[in-house]
Amino acid sequence: MVERIKQDRVRFDAQRQLAYRMSGSLGMLLVLYAQFTLLTDSNPSYLSRAVFAINHCALAGFSCWVIWALRRGWLLLDAVERIVLWFFAFESICFNSVLPPLFGQGLPILLRETIGDDIWFILVICTLAIHLYSGRRGILMALGFYIFSFAVAAGRVLVADAHGQDDGSGIMVIQIYVMAGALLCFLFVIARYRDHMQRLQVEYELLEQMAFNDVLTGLPNRRMGYQVLQSQIALSRRGRHPLCVCLWDIDHFKQINDTYGHEVGDMVLQALAEHLTSVMRVSDTLIRWGGEEFVVVLPETLFADALMVAERLRGTIAELPMSWDVRATASFGVSCYDGIETLEHLLQRADLALYAAKAAGRNRVMPQDTYPN
Ligand code: GH3
Ligand code: MG
Ligand code: MG
Repeated sequence: MVERIKQDRVRFDAQRQLAYRMSGSLGMLLVLYAQFTLLTDSNPSYLSRAVFAINHCALAGFSCWVIWALRRGWLLLDAVERIVLWFFAFESICFNSVLPPLFGQGLPILLRETIGDDIWFILVICTLAIHLYSGRRGILMALGFYIFSFAVAAGRVLVADAHGQDDGSGIMVIQIYVMAGALLCFLFVIARYRDHMQRLQVEYELLEQMAFNDVLTGLPNRRMGYQVLQSQIALSRRGRHPLCVCLWDIDHFKQINDTYGHEVGDMVLQALAEHLTSVMRVSDTLIRWGGEEFVVVLPETLFADALMVAERLRGTIAELPMSWDVRATASFGVSCYDGIETLEHLLQRADLALYAAKAAGRNRVMPQDTYPN
C-alpha cells in the first residue's frame, strides 16, 4: 500500500506541475493583453500607466520564473506553490486593492477591473491558501485576503455612492464579490469533504492491511487465510472444482534461531515468503499460518498436481541461496477437498500429513491421510 501511495503522490505531483506550467503560460498571455489595453487606453494618467506597467512586468517575470523553476526542478513543488501564493497576495493587495483608489478611479473602472482580473486573483489566492495551509490556518488566511479586498471595494462603492457618482456599477461590484464568496465557501466545503473521505479511506486501508496481513512477511495472515479458504471451499462445492491445500513447516527452525539469532530467523522467513510468492501461480495463495508454518491454497488443482507443486516448492526452499550461511528445508502435508468436509477437517488432514512428513525424517512431501507409524 505504501508503494501505491508513493505512485499516487508522483502522479499527483506531475499533474500539479503541468497545471502550474499551463496556468503560468496562460497568465503570461493575460498580462500581455492587459499591457496592450493599457497602451491603447488613453484615459489613465502617466503615473497610473507607469505603475501598472511595472505590475505587468513583475507578473510576466514571475510567471517566467515559475515555469523555468519547475522545469529545472530548482525548488520543491510545495515551495513554489507557497511563493506563488505570497506573490499573488502581495500583487493583489498592492495593485488591485490599495493603489487604484489612490489614482481616483471611478466605479465603472472598478467594475471592469473586478471582472477583468481582481476577482480571479482573489479566488486563486484563497484557493491556494486553503490548499496549502491545511485546517484553520488556511481558512483564516483565505478569509483575511477575501475580507480585505471586499472591504476596500465596498468602501470605494460607498464613498462613490455618497458623492452621487454611482451609475449602477457599485451594486454589480458588490454582487460579484458576494458570488465569489459563495463560490469560495462551496469550494472549501468540497475540499474539506474530499480530505475527510481520503483520510477515512487511508485509515480503512491501513486497518485492513494490519488486520489481514502479517507484519513480518507481508503475506495474508491466518485471519485472511480463513476467509480465502472458506470462499475457495464454497466455489469448489458449487462448481465441483478440485481444491487442494499444502500445509508446510520449516524444519528445525528453532535451531536456526538458536544458531544465528532471531533476526536471521526473521530474514529467513521473509526470504522464503518473497521467493515462494514469486514462483507461485497468481491464483494460488501463500498464507502465513503462524510462526514458521505456512499454508498454500491451490484452487482448480488436482491432487496429483498439488503434490507436484508441493514437491517443487520443497525443492525451491532447499536450494534457495541466502546471504548468510543458512540452509532451510521444509516438510509438506497435502490434502485435497473431498467436496463435503469442513475447512477444519481439510486442514486437519493436511496437518496429519505434515506430522507424518516430520516423523519420516523431514524435508519431504506427504499426501493426505498418511499417518506416522
Ligand atoms: P520442526 O522441524 O519439528 O518443525 O522443528 P522446529 O524447530 O522448526 O519447531 P518448533 O515448533 O520447535 O520451533 C519453531 C520455532 O519457530 C520456535 C519459534 O521461536 C520460532 N518462531 C516462530 N515464529 C517466529 C518468527 O516470527 N521469527 C523467528 N525468528 N522465529 C520464529
Ligand atoms: Mg518447524
Ligand atoms: Mg512449527
